Amino acid sequence: MPCHICETCGTQHAPGPLPPARCMICDDDRQYVGWSGQRWTTPTELAARHHLRVETDAGLLGIGIAPDFAIPQRALLLPTGAGNLLWECVSLVEDAALTALRARGGVDRIVISHPHFYSAMVDWSDALGGVEILLHESDREWVLRPSACIRWWGGDELRLSDDVTLIRCGGHFPGSTALHWQDGPRAGGALFPGDALQVVMDRRHVGFMYSYPNFVPMATGDVRAMRDRLARFAFEDVYGYTWGRNIIGDARAAVDASFERHLRAVAA
Ligand SMILES: [Zn+2]
Ligand SMILES: [Zn+2]
Repeated sequence: MPCHICETCGTQHAPGPLPPARCMICDDDRQYVGWSGQRWTTPTELAARHHLRVETDAGLLGIGIAPDFAIPQRALLLPTGAGNLLWECVSLVEDAALTALRARGGVDRIVISHPHFYSAMVDWSDALGGVEILLHESDREWVLRPSACIRWWGGDELRLSDDVTLIRCGGHFPGSTALHWQDGPRAGGALFPGDALQVVMDRRHVGFMYSYPNFVPMATGDVRAMRDRLARFAFEDVYGYTWGRNIIGDARAAVDASFERHLRAVAA
C-alpha cells in the first residue's frame, strides 16, 4: 500500500489503499489547502515527475526537490561532533542522493525543525539503515506516518555534543527547533532555525511569523521567549529553510537587529 504524499505541503502519510480524506497539516491555519482542492501523489508518481537536486549551499551539502515541489525546503548534511546529521528532510528519496551522503560518511541521525518539514522522514530513515529521527515532543500530534525510529526530546534545550545544541524556539509551532553548531561549518558557528525565525529576502534580517503563507504574525510573547532562549548562543551564519536563504557573516548581529525591529514595530 502506498504512503500518500500531500501535494501542497509534501507530508507523507501512513500507508493505505486510498489517500486520506484530508491533510491535517494543510487544514491547519498555518498552511492552506491547494486551490484545486486536496491533492495527493505517491512516492512512485513523485519520482517520475521530480528528481533530487544535490548541491552545495554555502559550503554544506544540500538536498532539495527539482522542479520545486510543495514547500521547497532543502535538507543539509552537517558533519558535526554529534555525528553526521541530516538537518531537515524532503519528500523524495533517490539513490544518487544516498550515494552522495554515503561518500561523505553517511548519516547518523535525522533532526527536523518542525512538522512542515517532516515530509518523507520515515522513508529517509529506512533508506539510511533505520537511523533515528529526533523531533520535539510538543509537535507529536503532527506526525502523520508514525515510526519506531522517531525519538522525542523535551524541554527547551538538548545538547547533542560539545558543539551541537537543539533549542526549542516555539512560536511557529510549539516545538519549533533551531540547531546551533558552535564550530561549523565555518569558524564562529552557525544557527539552523528552519522557519522558527525565517531568513527574509534581503538576507540581512530574519522575520517571525506564526503562518508565513497566510501572514499571521507570531505572538509577541513567543518572539520574546525565542529571543531569550537564543541569547547565549554565538554564531556567524544563519542557514535558512531553502537554497541560498542564508545570512553568511555577522548573523548574530543581524538576528539581534531583527528582534529589535520586529518588537519595535509591533509595539508602535
Ligand atoms: Zn498537506
Ligand atoms: Zn513552517
